[in-house]
Amino acid sequence: MKIRNPRTGIYDFEIPDLSADFVRNRCHTLRAGQKEWHKIGIHNRIGILQEWKAVVLKHKDELIEALATDTGRIWETKLEADIVAASIDRWCTIAKDFFSPSIRKKSSIPFIQLQQELEPFSVIGVISPWNFPLLLSLIDTIPALLAGCSVIVKPSEVTPRFISVLQQTIDKVPDLAKVLSYIPGDGKVGEALVNNCDLICFTGSSATGKKVYDAASKRMIPVFLELGGKDPAIVLASADLELAANSILWGSTANAGQSCLSIERVYVQDTVFDNFVALISLKAKELLLNADNINHGEVGPIIFEKQATIINEHLADAIEQGAEIVTGSTQCEKINGGFYCRPTVVTKVTHHMKLMQEETFGPIIPIMPFHTTEEAISLANGTVYGLSGAVFAGTVEEAMKVGSQIEAGAISINDAALTAIMHEGEKNAFKLSGIGGTRMGPSAIKRFMRQKVFIIKEQPIVSPWTVARYRE
Ligand code: NAD
Repeated sequence: MKIRNPRTGIYDFEIPDLSADFVRNRCHTLRAGQKEWHKIGIHNRIGILQEWKAVVLKHKDELIEALATDTGRIWETKLEADIVAASIDRWCTIAKDFFSPSIRKKSSIPFIQLQQELEPFSVIGVISPWNFPLLLSLIDTIPALLAGCSVIVKPSEVTPRFISVLQQTIDKVPDLAKVLSYIPGDGKVGEALVNNCDLICFTGSSATGKKVYDAASKRMIPVFLELGGKDPAIVLASADLELAANSILWGSTANAGQSCLSIERVYVQDTVFDNFVALISLKAKELLLNADNINHGEVGPIIFEKQATIINEHLADAIEQGAEIVTGSTQCEKINGGFYCRPTVVTKVTHHMKLMQEETFGPIIPIMPFHTTEEAISLANGTVYGLSGAVFAGTVEEAMKVGSQIEAGAISINDAALTAIMHEGEKNAFKLSGIGGTRMGPSAIKRFMRQKVFIIKEQPIVSPWTVARYRE
């Protein structure tokens, strides 16, 4: 399978076409390795992950180079690598407390005691997307490994260059290589994971998420789905407009808008609407494309060619229905073979436009005025998605009152897209943005374990409910 370079448009990389048998065999090997991995206990697992972190850091430059070729951007690539290194430490600290020895406790029946244990699932399948290839392939993998599971990871076929670099670091830690494996492949390989693993963590579009959910239900295996978003930001008249403009600009344009948690809709109170639009447009104009030099300019290419078509469609649909481009692009531009989209501020939008309903995944900032906060909340809730959102107001209380009525699992207050940086808070995806327990915060680790209880009779007492007792 030939892979396109997002900066040149040239198909300059290949991945093998792995069979379903290959995946089955790999899962079989990982299943065998998991038993010992579980047995060695949390302190040894932490030690092995720390050993791996040191190897990854030693090869950080090669990893960044491969990832930067996969994605065409450098700043976010470095951020991804840093977040991953920090997250290994964070999860190791959380796991230390999480696995305290289980204590036998009294039950409501005097001669029965209870002992709770946690038993990990054997093989976890992680299927991840192309927008943050390293980060999103590891976000569930690290807690799953610490929980005592084996993990097989299939990143997106759009960005596979980093896989062999990362796998080489895994191979340098033999105890880890028995329980962690990265494999390249497309949706077919993803399907094989669903058919061979014991639990699936899927990050990707809502459309593919539904297919994964369907396939997993046939095997009755648990599945955690982290899907698309159309995150709103609400700016109240009392807000610090300078702060709101800076934050929303970052939230909409980081990674060229290719984030599930990008701000894709902005609602601004009518009395400050013109000021806000002027402010953010001025700032948006200052952001440069990195088309000529990856180290110069804030906005990288649209990584996946098909995504550029979707962005173009949404812009064309909006313009046709009367939307106005205040600054930016009317279409993605083809430069040196790559597709680029300038940070684009759009006004005169209405809520039935694709730009306000469907995931655009580009650095587009459509802005709509509102009069009352009720109206803003209703607009914010007016899509099928419910991933996250943001509210800007003069006081935290005012912002939280509005935020509490937004149907989404994470609300940034007086900032935007904070879940990109802050992984400690626990959250669920609402509506079509996903299903399953929180992937962030301490309780995320519990998703990879089943609860088991030992119900213990310590003395030779005949239980009053047995037949023998009944006949006495
Ligand atoms: P996608 O759904 O096209 O692909 C995601 C992964 O699924 C890829 O690895 C792909 O090969 C695999 N796949 C495709 N068909 C499959 C099948 N039938 N069975 C199993 N696996 C299959 O998504 P994408 O275009 O790679 O990523 C962008 C999407 O991901 C956006 O919608 C974005 O919002 C979402 N996303 C969500 C989060 C989140 O945390 N909620 C984070 C990042 C991205």
